[in-house]
Amino acid sequence: MTGVMIVTGASRGIGAATARRAARAGYAVCVNYQAAADRAATVVQAIRADGGTAIAVAADVSDEGAVQAMFATVERYLGPVRVLVNNAGTVGDFGPLSAMTAAGLRRLLDVNVVGPFLCAREAAARMGTTRGGAGGSIVNVSSRASLLGGPNEWVTYAASKGAIDSMTVGLSKELASDGIRVNGVRPGLIDTEIHDVSPGRLDRLVGGVPLARTGTADEVAEAIVWLASDAASYVTGSFIEVSGGR
Ligand code: NAP
Repeated sequence: MTGVMIVTGASRGIGAATARRAARAGYAVCVNYQAAADRAATVVQAIRADGGTAIAVAADVSDEGAVQAMFATVERYLGPVRVLVNNAGTVGDFGPLSAMTAAGLRRLLDVNVVGPFLCAREAAARMGTTRGGAGGSIVNVSSRASLLGGPNEWVTYAASKGAIDSMTVGLSKELASDGIRVNGVRPGLIDTEIHDVSPGRLDRLVGGVPLARTGTADEVAEAIVWLASDAASYVTGSFIEVSGGR
């Protein structure tokens, strides 16, 4: 299966790598972003230069109207959606529990939990075989933090990814009869700008990685695109750890 794939948060990092990898596999890709229009345009240009098909669509995934508008735009310009990659995410307040703010936590949950649910609902409404769709697949980008807990740094972020894990299991069962597989990836320490919130964090923690290095966005993209593909046709409610053994 190829067809149309929406990758949320694809202006950089894991999302951008996934968009590029998926385009090489033959998908027409929606490169979603929140603010970085220039960087999303660069991803789209690179895909097109490589012979692929892509458009950039701005939408804050936590904004219900913006998400619905994004799906409508994608249908209009690319066609029916077959794959959703819920990748957009943020880390929120960094530090121990005492640094947590209610406003920061609410925003974190809006982006990391409400957003993926809104996107999944819109995707399922279009892909579901009982609703006139052709079936499809959803890949949720969780984190090893959901199991490690993120103590002293980002327990709130870890908890938001725990919610994504539960969502993945639940929706995999709910949407199976609609021809939609739902899986997750749990990246470990991947070298992207998400760690800029704490300079030196990757160097500080890499010693705890059995494979003794950080991972790349491309390595996570491989797992995402495989889970989305027909090669994973009997895989649903599953997670791939892309964490070097950590
Ligand atoms: P990143 O480099 O910080 O990129 C985040 C992307 O998300 C950007 O494209 C950003 O777009 C977009 N985004 C943020 N808020 C958004 C919103 N409200 N609506 C739409 N897009 C939004 O992060 P990354 O490291 O690639 O992380 C991608 C995913 O992997 C996240 O879910 C993250 O939690 C997860 N993850 C990462 C790691 C890691 O070590 N890097 C490990 C485990 C899990 P703009 O630039 O336009 O704002």
